[in-house]
Amino acid sequence: MELLFSSLLLFLLGPIASIARGGDRIPNPSGFWDRSGEFSARSLLQDHKPQELEALADGYMSNSELEKAIEEFGKRCAHISRVYSIGKSVKGFPLLVIEISDKPGKDEAEPAFKFIGNVHGDEPVGRELLILLANWLCNNYMKDSLATLIIKNVHLHILPTMNPDGFALRRRGNANNVDLNRDFPDQFFPINDVVDLRQPETRAVMSWIKGQHFTASASLHGGALVANYPWDGSGDSRYPIYGGMQDWNYIHGGCLELTLEISDDKWPKADELPILFEYNRMSMLNLVASLAKTGIHGRIFSSHNGHPLPASVMIKGIDYKINASGSSGDYHRILAPSGSYEVTVSMPGYRAKTTPTFLQQYAISLDFILDPDGDDAHRRTPLDGCDCNCLGILRRAHGGVYLAVFVILLFLYFLLKRKAVFRFLKRRHSSSHRRVSVV
Ligand SMILES: [Zn+2]
Repeated sequence: MELLFSSLLLFLLGPIASIARGGDRIPNPSGFWDRSGEFSARSLLQDHKPQELEALADGYMSNSELEKAIEEFGKRCAHISRVYSIGKSVKGFPLLVIEISDKPGKDEAEPAFKFIGNVHGDEPVGRELLILLANWLCNNYMKDSLATLIIKNVHLHILPTMNPDGFALRRRGNANNVDLNRDFPDQFFPINDVVDLRQPETRAVMSWIKGQHFTASASLHGGALVANYPWDGSGDSRYPIYGGMQDWNYIHGGCLELTLEISDDKWPKADELPILFEYNRMSMLNLVASLAKTGIHGRIFSSHNGHPLPASVMIKGIDYKINASGSSGDYHRILAPSGSYEVTVSMPGYRAKTTPTFLQQYAISLDFILDPDGDDAHRRTPLDGCDCNCLGILRRAHGGVYLAVFVILLFLYFLLKRKAVFRFLKRRHSSSHRRVSVV
């Protein structure tokens, strides 16, 4: 599944994705326009009558049953998880998240992934599959290599439902009948720039994304089989998705989000859910694991004081940057395997560094130590606190002996400081299976 991102290309049928997600060209409740513009009779956006929906929802978890399932998971799997809330829906239902990691809640230099289900209230398969996924990971930790790799190397955050009110109403929009996947600020049109009009579910997810340092994510939808990645919108309106969560993640969260339609039928019978989980299980697991198994990872430090730096990471030829985290200075850049890349790390106040690297099938570690920019900062030494007269007195009084001792001490000071950073990196690298280097 390291090939997930390349295999996604097979699914990149933008116009189909747009229709499946409720684009303007939907001609009637069932069927869609294919890429050639022909109408297909394939049943996609079923518009069931209310009594039909109630029958279809039979066997699905209600919102309160979902809340109970999350809390029970949190108790049963407390050794590898924590449960937290990112806010509330319009009707006050808590938006609960399960974080799965061997150190849940701890700030580690590891990539973070998020799954969001049930963005559209009438697409409930994702919320069911995400609970099954969380339990599968817990049951297979230290038994299955993929489960163990994920739990030890990734912080996985799962929001089973972003739209519990829409689910309760069996409809696409939330309690205010707003499509949450059109409610995010848009890069091309100011349609959602009025903060007060933004829905509480959208606001909660936006501050969650700003607060966590997600590397990648996927939102789960239903009614088609599609995998879609940024961009949804374009300046010339060729793609009709504006205000979507995916593009906002990419621009403002530094997070590559995929929009996945995972079942042809929005409301398959509940007894089909375990089968759908088996269909999707390996893809979901491999998608999360790919964050640890592929790409370029590393940490960025200051040579001046050894502190981690939230520097930007750019790849030549790709007009996109991500930032390292402010707390640990770690970055995680998703890149296609088997490629040569030129990596540039920069930060105001520091001299940028650029290095070429070749990424094979597996992840590599590439750490950077940046030197402060400008002569003053670069030459800053412990002598800075001492004015010229001090040196003059020293020289006059003891014929340069003190000066020599001072220079030696200064040399040792910088040597030890630099060694401390390298010792830390070496310790980290010795426990890593990745090819490692420091720039
Ligand atoms: Zn949807």
